[in-house]
Amino acid sequence: MVKTIFIGDVQAGKYDGQEVELMGWVKRSRGSNKIRFVVLRDSTGVIQCVVKKDAIGEESFEQVKGALIESSIKITGMINADERADGGHEMVASSIVIVGSVNPEHPFPITESAMKAADGGETEFLLDNRHLYLRTSRMTSMLQMRSTVFGAIHNYFRDLDFTEYQAPNFVAGAVEGGSTLFEVPYFPTEKNPERKVYLTQSWQLYAEAAMPALERLYTIAPSFRAEKSRTRRHLTEFWHAEMEVAWATNDEIMSHGEGVVRKIASDLLENRSTELESIGRDLELIARYADSPYPRMRYDEAVETLQGMGVDVEWGQDLDYSKEKVLTQDFDVPHFLTHYPKIAKPFYHRVDPDEEKYVLCHDLLAPEGYGEIIGGGERTWSEAELLARLDEEGTDKAAYQFYIDTRSYGGVPHGGFGLGVDRVCSWLTGADHIREVIPFPRDSRRVSP
Ligand code: ATP
Ligand code: MG
Repeated sequence: MVKTIFIGDVQAGKYDGQEVELMGWVKRSRGSNKIRFVVLRDSTGVIQCVVKKDAIGEESFEQVKGALIESSIKITGMINADERADGGHEMVASSIVIVGSVNPEHPFPITESAMKAADGGETEFLLDNRHLYLRTSRMTSMLQMRSTVFGAIHNYFRDLDFTEYQAPNFVAGAVEGGSTLFEVPYFPTEKNPERKVYLTQSWQLYAEAAMPALERLYTIAPSFRAEKSRTRRHLTEFWHAEMEVAWATNDEIMSHGEGVVRKIASDLLENRSTELESIGRDLELIARYADSPYPRMRYDEAVETLQGMGVDVEWGQDLDYSKEKVLTQDFDVPHFLTHYPKIAKPFYHRVDPDEEKYVLCHDLLAPEGYGEIIGGGERTWSEAELLARLDEEGTDKAAYQFYIDTRSYGGVPHGGFGLGVDRVCSWLTGADHIREVIPFPRDSRRVSP
C-alpha cells in the first residue's frame, strides 16, 4: 500500500524519490494525446503531475483527458524534486482514479472570460458563485488565516483563565441603539401581540449578568445589525469577540485589547506567512503590529487633529468611518481613542467621575485608513447611576430589569470590549472589503448563496 499524503508535505521535501498517493482537484490540465500535465490542488498546495499514456494505460488516459477543471481525483506516482517545477517538485503518475467528474455540459463556471462577461460585474458574479469561489487559492488563504485569527483569540483568553461563555441570540432589548435592530416576527402571540424580539447586537449585557459569577469571561459569536449604510467594513451578520472583566479599569481593558490584537498579528506571522505573502501582504507591517505598543490618545485630541487637517467635525459627534479614515491614514500602529463625550455614547458607558462630560471608554482604530476594530470601556456599575442614565436617554427600563438587578446585588466596577473579528481579518490581510474574509457574507442585500 502506498501512503496517502498532502501536497504540502511533498513541497516540504518529505517524500522525494518515493511513491505516494495524492487526492485532490484538477486546477489545470493540458497536453497531447500521449502526455498530460495535470496541476492538482488540495488544501495544502498545488503540484504538477506528469501523466503518460504508456504509464497508466489507454483507458485511464482517456479519462484523465476528459477530467475537467475541479474534477476530483486520486493519483499515485513517484515524487521527483525538480527545481524548474512550481514548488520545486513534480509527480510522475503510475495510476489515476477519477472520483468526482465534472459534466462537460456545465463546466466550472468561474473563469476569466465569464468574470469579464458577467452582467452585474465581476464582484457580483463571484458573490453569486460564492459556494464555488471558496475553492480558489485566494479564498483558501483567507479562510486559513481566519481560522488562525479565531484560534489566537481563544488562546489569548484561555491562557489568562477566562471562561468562554454564551449568551442568547434572541433578545428583548437593544445594546447599540434601536436603529440597527433586526426584529424577529415569530414571537408576538395572540396573547401578547406587542411583544418585540430582536436578534442580538452584542453579547455584552448578558455577559455582565455572569460577571459576578465568572469574573473573567469571553466569547466569539455572531452579532446582527441592520446597518443602514453599506460600507467596506460592515456586515449585517458578523463575528464578534467580546470580553468582560470584573474590577477592571479602562486602562486594564485596553491592555487586553492590545494584547489580543498583537497576539493575532503574531500568530498570523508565525503560522500564515506563506498565505499572507500569497495575497501580497507586507510581512513587516504585520510584525510591527505584533511587536510595537499601541499609543493611547483622548477623543478631544483626535478631534483637534482632524480639525487641524481641515475635516468638518464637531466636538460631541461619534466619529464615523469618513473621519476615522483620515485620522488613521498616517498611523503606523493601531491607536486607542479614549474619553468620548457622554452625549455620543449609550447608557451603559460609565461616566468619568473626574469629568462628567466624558465616559471611560475606548475605541481601537487600526492604521492604513482602516478605523475602528474594537469598542469598549468601563460599564455604568452603580444602580443609581444606571437608572439615571436610562432616564436621561428616555429608554424603557422593562427590557433591562435583569441588567439593573446585576447592580442591585453587589455591583462592582467592571468593563470589557467587543472586537469585530471579520474586521480584524480584513485589516490584517489587507482585503479591499470585509466580504473577502468571511465564507458567506451577509449584507443589506445578500442572503444567498
Ligand atoms: P461602527 O461605528 O464602525 O459601526 P460600532 O461603534 O457600531 O462600529 P461597536 O458597537 O463598538 O461598533 O462594536 C464592537 C466592534 O464590532 C466594532 O469595533 C467593530 O469591530 C465590530 N462591528 C460593529 N458593527 C459591525 C458590522 N456591522 N460588521 C462588522 N463588524 C462590526
Ligand atoms: Mg455600528
